[in-house]
Amino acid sequence: MKILVINCGSSSLKYQLFNMENEEVMVKGLVERIGIEGSRLVQKNNGDEFVIEQAMENHTQAVSHVFDALIDSENGVIDSLEEIDAVGHRFVHGGEKMTKSALITDEVKDAINEAAKFAPLHNPANLMGLKACEELLPNVPNVAVFDTAFHQTMPAKTYLYGIEYKYYEEDAIRKYGFHGTSHNYITNRAADLLEKSVEDTNIISAHLGNGSSITAVKNGKSFDTTMGLTPLEGLVMGTRSGDLDPAVVTYIEEKDGVSADEMNNILNKKSGVLGVSGVSSDFRDLEDAAKNGNERAQVALDMFTTRTKRYIAGYMAELENVDAIVFTGGIGENSIEMREDILKGFEQFGIKIDPEANNIRGGEHVISTADSKVKVMVIATNEELMIARDTQDLVK
Ligand code: ADP
Repeated sequence: MKILVINCGSSSLKYQLFNMENEEVMVKGLVERIGIEGSRLVQKNNGDEFVIEQAMENHTQAVSHVFDALIDSENGVIDSLEEIDAVGHRFVHGGEKMTKSALITDEVKDAINEAAKFAPLHNPANLMGLKACEELLPNVPNVAVFDTAFHQTMPAKTYLYGIEYKYYEEDAIRKYGFHGTSHNYITNRAADLLEKSVEDTNIISAHLGNGSSITAVKNGKSFDTTMGLTPLEGLVMGTRSGDLDPAVVTYIEEKDGVSADEMNNILNKKSGVLGVSGVSSDFRDLEDAAKNGNERAQVALDMFTTRTKRYIAGYMAELENVDAIVFTGGIGENSIEMREDILKGFEQFGIKIDPEANNIRGGEHVISTADSKVKVMVIATNEELMIARDTQDLVK
């Protein structure tokens, strides 16, 4: 079975074609600047790059070029589009209705549209990719995989906010959590490596990248997570503020006459380690700047590690019994220094890091010592493979 995985943003589209016989990625690519001058598709296949530079006014045109690239006689990997058995689409918000991945039906589309009020930039963009596939490949089934679905197992005590209950009942305002596809993949992979069944596995999954979230997984299910109604809550991120006193928002809005839209933009795009440091949202730039004596870059990194520690420690208490702490995402997989800083202070709980094992980037490995009370691991995440697997299961 061959499955195309599509992750559509407002002006970009990432794709991977999987051969599910061996779960191999046959080809992957990225379309950028959809609807903007300079549209461009770059397809990568074993180090070879195939580029299409042509105006792409909308997602349907972009998807049509993706199909051209897939079947291109020189650079393609399949002879005809009929070889594609199904398409898996990433959706950011599934609200309370979408508790797992689903074959696309009118009901599923209604749920996606309903949840769009909480993901106004993402869900409509995700839907454009779906619409394009429905138009261009009318006989191929489409599956929706949601970032929020994995977290629908959280109990009320972790998903409710401390505000009047009517806001939950009437408006569905609650914590939803994101990065669910990644946390789900990490949970399954960790269970494999621990040689335990998923149902018996308790982990703390730290997905640290441009966007970062940590999930407490109890018996293989999400029990608590740092992101909330939207992906703004929790850790200090590249450009997102994470947790803050809500009074900060109302104060700035009143003082500077800032609208809700502008405030959203400030908190999502101008805050986080970028806002604090004034240097960059990229952790490599921050590490370099801090090494060169930039104090605000150092403070921003310290804020990131401090809050990460706080959540990991809190989740250890919530879970009572933890099999492993797992690092993933661009920072979690690659930053040796960040992992070391985050885990400082956990020695008192018997968690010990092996500096040599930690001195490796990427891949899949244990970085704790043999006598550490809790295993600490690095696992490279693979959201696309998870989407392809769910899609295969649903269309089989
Ligand atoms: P996204 O959330 O967009 O998927 P990633 O998971 O790719 O992002 O993470 C990007 C972040 O990972 C960037 O801040 C980048 O600086 C950081 N990163 C990648 N490699 C390294 C590294 N070797 N050392 C430190 N940080 C790294």
